[in-house]
Amino acid sequence: MSAPAGQQERADTAAPAGKPAAPAPRAIVQAMKEYHPPLGGRGGMRLDFNENTLACSPAVRAALSAVTTSDLTRYPERGPVEALVAEHLGVAAEQVLLTNGVDEAIHVLCQCYLDETSEILLPVPTYSMYEVYASATGAKIVCIEADAADFAFPYERVLAAITPRTRLIALANPNSPTGTSMRREQILEIARRAPQAMVLADEAYFHFHGETVLDLVGAAEYPNLVVARTFSKAFGLAGLRLGMLAAAAESMHWLRRVISPYSVNALALACLPAALADTAYLDWYVEEVKAARAEFGAVCSELGVRTWHSDANFLLLAIGPKHREFCRAMHAHGILVRDRSNDPGCNGCVRITVGTRDQMRAAQDALRTVLQGL
Ligand SMILES: *Cc1c(COP(=O)(O)O)cnc(C)c1O
Repeated sequence: MSAPAGQQERADTAAPAGKPAAPAPRAIVQAMKEYHPPLGGRGGMRLDFNENTLACSPAVRAALSAVTTSDLTRYPERGPVEALVAEHLGVAAEQVLLTNGVDEAIHVLCQCYLDETSEILLPVPTYSMYEVYASATGAKIVCIEADAADFAFPYERVLAAITPRTRLIALANPNSPTGTSMRREQILEIARRAPQAMVLADEAYFHFHGETVLDLVGAAEYPNLVVARTFSKAFGLAGLRLGMLAAAAESMHWLRRVISPYSVNALALACLPAALADTAYLDWYVEEVKAARAEFGAVCSELGVRTWHSDANFLLLAIGPKHREFCRAMHAHGILVRDRSNDPGCNGCVRITVGTRDQMRAAQDALRTVLQGL
């Protein structure tokens, strides 16, 4: 539960009588939206966090085994690995910033561009960490709700919401928890219409979709375009905490001031080249997920469960009023799924990560049984 703004102390942190109280954080922190990762008891098949459900490339394990004591004793140097990533992606080395997951990238963007006088535009429902980090800056959070009928990107309304105070626009493409995507031209038009704002294209699920605006990072027409990619999803490295931003060199200069110099650790840096090089593994996994997504979607519609078109490695299911019982029953059948009912417009919706076809056949069996018992 978040404490109301201005509250001096929370009941669970109040000092016992006679003892000095801990200093209260600034009001903005007290008003911040909290994030509680529902990570406890994740036994079962983890279809709740959109991770790779199988494993990272075996080449990554080999790279980890080759890590030396000297690698561990030295402060990690991300520059050389950034250069390698830049080359892999076809952008200039100074345009790439490796981060401790995309979460840190979002944090750094918010710290760099937002304050109490600014606004962040968020088409919702969307990834929750934008709001968490933005709220820590005191910026006004302007949410633009998608039409729940199809969760299509509310493009016209996003354009209409741009003001001179708009400093950041976060566009998850494909979006989570809906799986819907926006068109490249829509992102670019938003960037042109909001030159006073950084426009983040968060391409966390890029591999399952295949469309990007990365090729325009650094282009003269789009100095405000910034692209995020993560190694947590398709690459299967969520535990290593590895993400990146690509932006024009001028913006990178500011972002590098704000980020912790050693936030990407030595193990992550040691593994990244191997992960990038094994394109065969990545391609195989992505194709497997896409095939499983089609199969699982077809089973949902056969069972009368509505899903939305997804360009990512998950599907949003319209379960209805019994969404809580559904999640519990799926868990009892060994399948973890994520209740998204509290997201704007998502009442009764549950998100399920798509893994391999074998895994999703087990999930289908659980789905059939659970739906019968609801
Ligand atoms: C999972 C996710 C992230 C976070 O990725 P990390 O690199 O693990 O921090 C960022 N954006 C979106 C849209 C996501 O779904």
